[in-house]
Amino acid sequence: MAPSATDSQTDTPNGDTLTTQPKVKATPVVINGGSHDTQRAGSQDASSSSKLDKYKNPSLYVTPQHTIELRETSIPKPSASQVLIHVRATGICGSDLHLWHRGAIGPLIVDHAHSLGHESAGVVLETGSAVKHLKPGDRVAIEPQVPCHTCFLCTAGKYNLCESVSFLGVGNEGSIRRFMTHEAQYCHKIPDTMTFAQGSLLEPLSVVLHAIRQCEGSVSIGKPALICGAGPIGLIALAAARASGAWPLVITDVEESRLDFARTFVLGVQTYQVLPTKTPLQCAEEIRLLFGCAGSRNVETGIPDANEYNAPTTVFECTGIEPSVITAAYACRRAGVVMVVGVGRSIMNNLPFMHLSLAEIQLKFINRYSDTWPAGINALANGQVLNLDSLVTHTFPLEQATEAMALCADRSKGSIKVQIVDDTEIDL
Ligand SMILES: [Zn+2]
Ligand SMILES: [Zn+2]
Repeated sequence: MAPSATDSQTDTPNGDTLTTQPKVKATPVVINGGSHDTQRAGSQDASSSSKLDKYKNPSLYVTPQHTIELRETSIPKPSASQVLIHVRATGICGSDLHLWHRGAIGPLIVDHAHSLGHESAGVVLETGSAVKHLKPGDRVAIEPQVPCHTCFLCTAGKYNLCESVSFLGVGNEGSIRRFMTHEAQYCHKIPDTMTFAQGSLLEPLSVVLHAIRQCEGSVSIGKPALICGAGPIGLIALAAARASGAWPLVITDVEESRLDFARTFVLGVQTYQVLPTKTPLQCAEEIRLLFGCAGSRNVETGIPDANEYNAPTTVFECTGIEPSVITAAYACRRAGVVMVVGVGRSIMNNLPFMHLSLAEIQLKFINRYSDTWPAGINALANGQVLNLDSLVTHTFPLEQATEAMALCADRSKGSIKVQIVDDTEIDL
């Protein structure tokens, strides 16, 4: 991994392909010379005496040549603090597609082949000697970041900002494989009633939970909210804002099919189709009309809107695309919060700086999440607070992981969240 000289602008129109994770610093991996496999630091080499020897461990690899392929890999042995997991479901993320097609996410470059995947849930098969809270047979959702635990950010509880973090599937081995080891501390037990598909959705949900927390009260019962981008993260933000009581709700996208989906996903949401022919300010003014603004303001000459109060107190910007960020800035209520969840260009030159300044609009950012899995599990369990099941539009067996990636990359297929599952019976 080396810093990229190129800009990290995402080229997707509706921004579902890049979300805030994984913005991580790569840590070195140990290449396991004899096989194609690599192990993350902390895990040891394959066990030969294991009863698992009869099973294969196919892993979905990405290469610096922009290819993906299933490779046979050895089965890792957990260290004292780790568990060995049978991965049962993994969601494909936009970042996985970027690592494949572009070979990079911002400064993170695919300079060696490694496996992909970071949105996973599975079953514990084996525990390291120091693991106390998990046992074989436990069903777990995987938090894909392992921070250093010693830097000032880690000790302050902001471990998502740790600069020595190791993140699954970005420079390190990922979770699109049958067997993997992971630090037990970052494996969260899920109830028997929760499916593995739901367990995998806890990762993108965590992005949204962290974003809502950082809005500090701006998202609340009866407060209007706007979501820019109707990809998986935008749709989860929409559902989570609704579950938080935010109302009225508007979601934007360039694709009408995504907006159609949004209307069935959260009843009563209003939708706004972004047309590239319109300026961000024009889009913002039209969006504000949906919230009941008067349309009487002129931000350039300082004429106020008679119904400024109706404008959204929170805007979740889930695309990272510059025009959408600008639209978010103009659409937000004075004194409101623009929460930028999407990631995009290294430098954005056209933000309406003085508008944000004079309106005291807080432009906020997130990078991944911290302490979100327990809340996510509570919110998804039983479907009483949140039900994200319909986001999973396609499911493929592990053996067809490359087909799953291809479908996910083909926008004409209309997928939202594609998951790779492995129902192989493992008997120990
Ligand atoms: Zn992701
Ligand atoms: Zn740290």
